[in-house]
Amino acid sequence: MTDTSTYIGFDAYSEQIPASIPVAVQQATGKFVGGRAARVAELPHFEQLRQMASDIRLHTIENMDAYLLCFEEKVMAAGGHVHWAATSKDARQIVLDIARQHNVRLAVKAKSMATEEIELNQALESAGIEALETDLGEYIIQLAGTGPSHIIAPAVHLAKEEIAAIFSEKLGINAPADPVELTRIAREILREKFLAAQMGISGANFLVAETGTLVMVTNEGNGRMCTTLPELHVAVVGIDKVVPDWDSLTVFLKLLARSATGQKLSTYTQFITGPRREEGEFGPREFHVVLLDNGRSNVLKDPIGREVFKCIRCGACANVCPVYKNVGGFAYGWFISGPIGAIFSPQMLGTSAARELPYASTLCGACAEVCPVKIPIPAILRHLRRRVAEGDDFALATMPIPIRAAARVSSFALAQNWLYRLGARILPLAMSIFSRDGWISCAPYPLSRWTKARPLPKFSAGFRQWWGRR
Ligand code: SF4
Repeated sequence: MTDTSTYIGFDAYSEQIPASIPVAVQQATGKFVGGRAARVAELPHFEQLRQMASDIRLHTIENMDAYLLCFEEKVMAAGGHVHWAATSKDARQIVLDIARQHNVRLAVKAKSMATEEIELNQALESAGIEALETDLGEYIIQLAGTGPSHIIAPAVHLAKEEIAAIFSEKLGINAPADPVELTRIAREILREKFLAAQMGISGANFLVAETGTLVMVTNEGNGRMCTTLPELHVAVVGIDKVVPDWDSLTVFLKLLARSATGQKLSTYTQFITGPRREEGEFGPREFHVVLLDNGRSNVLKDPIGREVFKCIRCGACANVCPVYKNVGGFAYGWFISGPIGAIFSPQMLGTSAARELPYASTLCGACAEVCPVKIPIPAILRHLRRRVAEGDDFALATMPIPIRAAARVSSFALAQNWLYRLGARILPLAMSIFSRDGWISCAPYPLSRWTKARPLPKFSAGFRQWWGRR
């Protein structure tokens, strides 16, 4: 089972929700959705590409051990080092040991969900090593002291005025609410850090087994700076990122940027095979890859749940999700938010830690329709709901007994016409005690967990009257 001690639950995140949600989130996701639709329309064979991507991913999942061993062999042949980390603790320790051996005091980081997963920054800081995020969105949320709210756009929930306020407070300057100026300020600070850092840390979008190549897809130049300027490069990557060969990679590269940001290709696609070989070449003198399991091997045993590892982290599912768009990423409570997080976290952490997530969905199916690798997200959500309620071969039931009892009582009540009618009359009266101007901002437990993040509309049982009138 994954180490869950490092995860922040909903209650902690709900304290961080800025006032700009959901407007900022809706604006950004709307832009991504429009861009994706335009790029997809340009590719008449888009559906065939999706099918190919899904088939390649399933094949890789079934043969992951062989491809990982092939990747390891090729990295070592190219002069790199490969480390296997069973848990997040192991991964943190490996990176810390490498950093200490090289007397690292400053590490610059490219955007990486794997390092978020293992909470690497906190471990480095506790060891006296400054770990600086250099992706602009990650830099902003690091300054703000919060977590990411979207897979590809971590600070998507913040308006430019809020970012200016964060810069002003944390950097001690008078930052204007102007995106160009804010970017210039960040760039100036970060350039110095790239040149001073002793270690660069990154994740990877893909690992090509055929040649031992690490592939990074980015839109800012920071990934290149992190992986070429410092003398030492350490990449922390989930074992699910491996792809068999370059032919497979081209399929994913055609889908990733189109699905994520509506671009044909990201600004930078970087291929790293080992350290620099000769003086005069760019790149680090030492190159390490930490292959992170952290619960993935267990998930691989479940024939339904393991399809989560087809994911290429494009974020398209979050952009169309009616839940994500309206409450933003923090309401999910874990480092990967949105539909993909709702099937990733409960499997990685166990349903006892994240059992609410499979229920944080309307099961509308919009996510599965846009997913470029055809992950059946609603089917996996239903599978996980069953696991929470009843348990299965892979996990015990974790639904608390009072809730299971309440579900049985409601199932009985909903099947009795007279009881249902009575409840529909009593409930609006009871809830009117808590409502103000048509909204309930502080409901009694268990509904209080909802109203902590956003108000509920007042209960109305007018459907039957409305139906009768028609
Ligand atoms: S589940 Fe599909 S749509 Fe969502 S991030 Fe992963 S690949 Fe993209």
